[in-house]
Amino acid sequence: MRQLGYEVTTGVGRTGVVGVLKNGAGPTVLLRTELDALPVTENTGLPFASTVRTKDDAGNEVGVMHACGHDIHMAAWMGTARIMAANRGTWRGTLVLIGQPAEEIVSGAKAMIADGLLTRFPRPDFALAVHDDARLPSGIVGYHPGPVLANADAITITIFGRGGHGARPDATVDPIVIAARTVLALQTIVSREMSPFDPAVITVGSIHGGTKNNIIPDDVKLLLTVRSFTTPVRQHLLRSIERIAKAEATAAGAPREPKIEYGPPATALVNDSALTKRVGAALVRELGPARAKDAPQEMASEDFSEFQLAGIPTLMLRVGAVEPAKFDAAMKSGTPLPSLHSSQFWPDREPTIKTAMTAEVIALRELMPSQQAR
Ligand SMILES: [Zn+2]
Ligand SMILES: [Zn+2]
Repeated sequence: MRQLGYEVTTGVGRTGVVGVLKNGAGPTVLLRTELDALPVTENTGLPFASTVRTKDDAGNEVGVMHACGHDIHMAAWMGTARIMAANRGTWRGTLVLIGQPAEEIVSGAKAMIADGLLTRFPRPDFALAVHDDARLPSGIVGYHPGPVLANADAITITIFGRGGHGARPDATVDPIVIAARTVLALQTIVSREMSPFDPAVITVGSIHGGTKNNIIPDDVKLLLTVRSFTTPVRQHLLRSIERIAKAEATAAGAPREPKIEYGPPATALVNDSALTKRVGAALVRELGPARAKDAPQEMASEDFSEFQLAGIPTLMLRVGAVEPAKFDAAMKSGTPLPSLHSSQFWPDREPTIKTAMTAEVIALRELMPSQQAR
């Protein structure tokens, strides 16, 4: 980026990168890529599959994979950096390209903003991001005004019992049985307490307790992810989870209330309507309605919402990442395609990168028009 003429600052929010290209009077537009991968061992069988291994936060050895397609985003972002630098006559304004770390643990955007991203550098009038989509064929660009990604809460519930010999249950309070009942009761929150018109998800993604077949442990840990689009739904879900966890422990005569801990939450991502309409119209004009279309919402989450919380109109576009033949076959057979974060996620790389780059350049030129282009 330095070679292309960008003023580059590294180490923003620990490992973030900011590249600024000033090109006359005009709006300031931020375009983000993520930099991080996931602790997933790649299982695609591709000749260029990741073989990287590292230690996770808990010290376990894990494989590392770009299972969310952030490598696609980086490649497209770099291509867009080149196109914008080589064609300065086609736009006017200030381009702020950021490489953001730690998106998957929803802390990188916050860290970059805390390190002066919006004060040490030109403050953006608009913030854009593009994310690949494992539900759409390659070549497609999706946009949708309003909420597109969900609130996400990470919850750890520690259920306490009284451990002892596996052959003497009468001398114990078994936290594994309490945990099993809790997991099932939690499923009734979404199915029985929420309106079918309010999307919500409660997933228990991890359950750990015990060491051996004949020992009843002292405690069991549940790790949950909780998703919603609105604040009232979010609050209802969190209150009900607490109520059920406590009540199941009481019902079993547990010696202590469960401990409930909350990780850093992610806020629902809401695409600014005026910005989405404007960029959406430009995409339809340039690519045609067969390639640029409304994309469905998703219960996944993102820390790109930090920019909207900072008062900047934001838009996240989606680009299809599935080989069209594979997509059609899956639609016919009804077999679900591997989702993002799957060890089998295999993006249709060339068309996906090209489409992401095309969408970025169209959006940037629409928001930073040159005199001649108008
Ligand atoms: Zn992800
Ligand atoms: Zn992602």
